[in-house]
Amino acid sequence: MRTDKKVYNNVLELVGSTPLIRLNSVTKDFQGEYFAKVEAFNPGHSAKDRIALHIIEEAERQGILKQGDTIIETTSGNTGFSIAMVSIIKGYRCILAVSSKSSPDKIDMLKSMGAEVYVCPANVKADDPRSYYEVAKRLHTEIEGSVYINQYFNKLNLDAHYKSTGPEIWEQTDGEITHLVACSGTGGTISGIAKYLKEQSRKVGTNVKVIGVDAYGSVLKKYHETREFDEKEIYPYRIEGLGKNLIPTATDFDLIDKFEKVADAESAHSAREISNKEGLFVGYTSGAALQAIRQLNDAGEFKSSDKIVVVFPDHGSRYMGKVYNDQWMEAQGFFDELPKSQKAINYV
Ligand code: PMP
Repeated sequence: MRTDKKVYNNVLELVGSTPLIRLNSVTKDFQGEYFAKVEAFNPGHSAKDRIALHIIEEAERQGILKQGDTIIETTSGNTGFSIAMVSIIKGYRCILAVSSKSSPDKIDMLKSMGAEVYVCPANVKADDPRSYYEVAKRLHTEIEGSVYINQYFNKLNLDAHYKSTGPEIWEQTDGEITHLVACSGTGGTISGIAKYLKEQSRKVGTNVKVIGVDAYGSVLKKYHETREFDEKEIYPYRIEGLGKNLIPTATDFDLIDKFEKVADAESAHSAREISNKEGLFVGYTSGAALQAIRQLNDAGEFKSSDKIVVVFPDHGSRYMGKVYNDQWMEAQGFFDELPKSQKAINYV
């Protein structure tokens, strides 16, 4: 955790204690006050630093990990980067099975942080032997002394946010937060924060409303509403790190009040809007979160006295070949899908 030390002993001491920054422009026409928990301020530039450090240190405490052991994980990039960073400092070998949907920049970055990277096809079922889950499981059984982080099915993922991000937000808002809006992938971020905020707000007689952001093409929202896994909900989409084609046990669906689904194009334009108008260079899912807020506001979700905290999970630098690249945006047809007035906020 960040302290007010003059000198830090290593980069891991800077994990957590990220700033809460008021949104002044992108939400100015919406009801309520908006604050962004900007996770790009972590040294690994995403919220995943928190879970990598927490899970690895918990494994050390339990005597499961020893110097020189191997850490294996499936990742869309951010978790991999954070695990690689922690592994360097603590002296572990790091193997990552990565989805082919991840940007080439992210994959190169992981390699530059000393990780061994296996790139696996994105659009196969989770139980396909080529999927990154199955590849990671196989490597885990083949490599002696290896630990599989398994972020989608590891309750310590939720625990990391319960112990750090949740308390930070409660303190930063003086307990006045009324809504949390956060993307759900593994669900660790939203569930861990929600658990802490709901506990605290119950003590003072309020109830923080927790809204998850899901992607069109993902099963999470439907599962939340019906508790049934509906394969028809699943189809390819562009946003990385948000939504899922399986039900992660790291998500506590009972702590989430509702989900809002967002689409690729609007989320990409919203990410650009945050960078353009707030000077906050954030990733694709931060745009997804803003898009969800826009839709919720239009549907009358918020009132003027509300204090809404939105989590911005990572940094824009990881999307230079995608959301922040006009050719990529053009190739996806994202410039065609919006009215001219909204195109004006882009670089073209
Ligand atoms: N945004 C990005 C960029 C991510 O990589 C992730 C993690 N998959 C999320 C949001 C969602 O966070 P969580 O896994 O904690 O639900």
